[in-house]
Amino acid sequence: MLEAGRYEAGALGSGAFSAVLTCCMASMLIDQYGRVHDYLRIAVTDRCNFRCTYCMPKDGIALGPHADMLSYEEIARLSEIFVGLGVRKLRLTGGEPLVRHGIEGLFPQLSALDTELAISTNGALLVEHLDSLWAHRFHQLNISLDTLYPDRFRAITGRNACEDVQRAIRAATAYHSGTERFQSVKVNTVLIRGINDDELLDFVRFGEELSSLAAGGPTVEMRFIEYMPFRGNAWSSERSLPMSEMLAAIERVYDLDAIESSEVTRSPTIHPGPAKSFRVAGSNLRLGFITTVSEPFCGECSRLRLTADGTLRTCLFGDDGVNLRDMLRFGAREETIASAIESAVLDKWREHPPVHELAGLNTREMIAIGG
Ligand code: SAM
Ligand code: SF4
Repeated sequence: MLEAGRYEAGALGSGAFSAVLTCCMASMLIDQYGRVHDYLRIAVTDRCNFRCTYCMPKDGIALGPHADMLSYEEIARLSEIFVGLGVRKLRLTGGEPLVRHGIEGLFPQLSALDTELAISTNGALLVEHLDSLWAHRFHQLNISLDTLYPDRFRAITGRNACEDVQRAIRAATAYHSGTERFQSVKVNTVLIRGINDDELLDFVRFGEELSSLAAGGPTVEMRFIEYMPFRGNAWSSERSLPMSEMLAAIERVYDLDAIESSEVTRSPTIHPGPAKSFRVAGSNLRLGFITTVSEPFCGECSRLRLTADGTLRTCLFGDDGVNLRDMLRFGAREETIASAIESAVLDKWREHPPVHELAGLNTREMIAIGG
């Protein structure tokens, strides 16, 4: 065990200082720029029941055999190692996490860990999993919805599920277990010029409706995500709406109050995340903007990603890092895996290249990384 509050210099045999800082006898994953990494997004699958044009190339992606994916036991073991290294929040994502067969079997394994639990879903299968998510402490729900119109929904996602998803969002917002409620329901919307940008204010109104359903319950946030470039997703800078433009359009109708980042999370131990958040004056509704394109937030990045095939990625736009699945399957000891994670974090780059350069890079598709 390391001494409290001191860097462990050279413990990994490389780098200026180790990625491990112990504070009050707890580890933290820190990179060479001093960023603490306490948040792991786990893609439990690269499969999906939707075909969102901005996420998945038209011809789909090359899917590996199921045997290449981390098993639930492997996800649980790796999660435990990450939590031992100071990760305080796990989010299940994908692909669509709820399409993976037997996903509910993973929930109890993760809820046994001392960490916050969250899930990102397209909502199509959410209603049937709400009880189990609730019971296993997955209390932070992010649900994607890019349009309120069924025809347009089909054009964007390839599926007829617009009403189902809206119903699922309402059900999650209104969900009760006795008097208890989910902690947050966030609706993720990627606004694309010429596709759904005319719905910006409709989404704020939808948020107002949810906010009344939530009364006394979950924090409701409508999150507008700037359209990002990934392999095969037809991105162009003209089609990506910057936060400044969305904000100006909303502020023509609504008064907004900026929310300090310390207010954004209820947990003092968790980083507030990258969203720039506002409250609609006179209501509890929050609006959040993920400004990866117009105002990258690399300086505050606290995120790590585990892909469905067990690869650790320290940046959404970076190259693949170490494959932790292979280490597990070749019988590596937990300390060895922990050291590999620490080294990868230590080596994380300071910032990703400018977005116009990213568009030309051959990065994995978003669906294959895990959003
Ligand atoms: N299937 C789940 C869902 O749709 O929420 C989880 C995985 S999805 C990859 C996670 C998030 O990434 C979604 O909110 C989605 O809108 C977002 N996303 C996917 N491609 C994107 C892109 N090109 N730009 C911005 N956000 C994107
Ligand atoms: Fe599937 Fe989510 Fe990607 Fe849409 S955004 S294709 S729902 S993984």
